[in-house]
Amino acid sequence: MMLRLRDTLSGEVRPLEPLEPGHVRIYSCGPTVYGPTHIGNFRSFLFADLLVRYLRYRGLRVTWVMNLTDIDDKIIRSANAAGESIEDLANRWIARFLADVDALRMTPPDVLPRATRHIDDMVRLIETLEAKGHAYRTEDGSIFFRIDSWPAYGRLARLDPGQLRVGGRVEADEYGKDDVRDFALWKSPKNEEPSWATDLGPGRPGWHIECSAMSMRHLGESFDIHTGGVDLVFPHHEDEIAQSEAATGKPFVRTWLHCAHLRMGGEKMAKSTGNIARVAELLEAGVSPRALRYVLLAVHYRQGLDFSQAALDAAGAALDRLDTLLTTLAGYVEARNDDPTLPDLLEGARSGFEAALDDDLNISAALAALFDLVREANRRIAARSMSTADAGRIRDLLRDLDRVLGILPADADADALEPELAALVKARAVARAARDWARSDQLRDELATLGIAVEDTRDGQRWRRLETVG
Ligand SMILES: [Zn+2]
Repeated sequence: MMLRLRDTLSGEVRPLEPLEPGHVRIYSCGPTVYGPTHIGNFRSFLFADLLVRYLRYRGLRVTWVMNLTDIDDKIIRSANAAGESIEDLANRWIARFLADVDALRMTPPDVLPRATRHIDDMVRLIETLEAKGHAYRTEDGSIFFRIDSWPAYGRLARLDPGQLRVGGRVEADEYGKDDVRDFALWKSPKNEEPSWATDLGPGRPGWHIECSAMSMRHLGESFDIHTGGVDLVFPHHEDEIAQSEAATGKPFVRTWLHCAHLRMGGEKMAKSTGNIARVAELLEAGVSPRALRYVLLAVHYRQGLDFSQAALDAAGAALDRLDTLLTTLAGYVEARNDDPTLPDLLEGARSGFEAALDDDLNISAALAALFDLVREANRRIAARSMSTADAGRIRDLLRDLDRVLGILPADADADALEPELAALVKARAVARAARDWARSDQLRDELATLGIAVEDTRDGQRWRRLETVG
């Protein structure tokens, strides 16, 4: 395994060496579930998906955890406005998020922990920070992390500690902090806000503490990779490092990966500015989920990505080339010797694809290797220079690389059929077009004995595999 990744904290590109050999543990900051997820968030999630898929393709075991923030100021405001509980509101939006995950073919994370289910873990962590002198209480019972107690604060974001700004989520004087830079670990109950009765007293957690508590609960006190959008570097990830390492005395994360912004019309996509496109709305408007996945995936994660109709069109054209090749390969029949140059072509395509992804997930170069293969395959098809089995070898490689990409058609279409069977299905279509019903029926019966049922529809012939009985 030679995957090299650029770590935000050190600024270095380093080989991935899992703390536990053969097992990579990854945490990704997930959505705040109070509204529809926009595609800028999904860009960040899909880059983590690419990482997870590639590691698994390389034969590594991966444990992937993504949190669901189901308690924060915005959720409370939205629930109050809608006259429902934060639980009902969060459940509704989690279901919508998971539908988007499915539509975009994102690998479901192994664990999707919810903040409200981990209050005890957060309380224990805050108690430890208090005991070690890194946290203090204000008069109203809120608890803050004391940044002065943690000299390494600011390293991730490369900030001068003297010039730190207060985080946007809490007003400096709102909870009576000692220092405007300090951040809330625990918030005392205010008005009608939800609160938990805990050993810390009543209240609710601040935002940052949930990611430290839940990542360490599910992945251990030190783990391999933490991902998120670049806007989470400060203060969120800076705060995660401070509170985690201050509590455990151990390095929190080996490699930090941050995904650049998605832009639309030249502006950063963010809920706060209203410059957003939501997954569900785009799909309802007729955008192909595969094309949307392709657009969000196809630019290197540390480069800005401009979302536009032109980008969707280009993605659609790229997918068409892949689909057409798969269909053509499925129908390709040529009784001749295997092409002696094909093994080199296939090996070169695979090693080019892997070398690109090994280089800090260079997806653009990986796709270039894939489309070089498409061009070469089309050239050989036009020249009829391959055998039927060769066509199957190209198709097998495309399917194998697609374990990483997740962009090929997933249906049990003609492409998935063995070449010999595909040839029979094709021959039957030819017979029907010639109105040769006797030949058509004969081929149907022959296919049935081989485990393939064919039926004739308005859109032409369809096939499916017969379930094996017994
Ligand atoms: Zn987080």
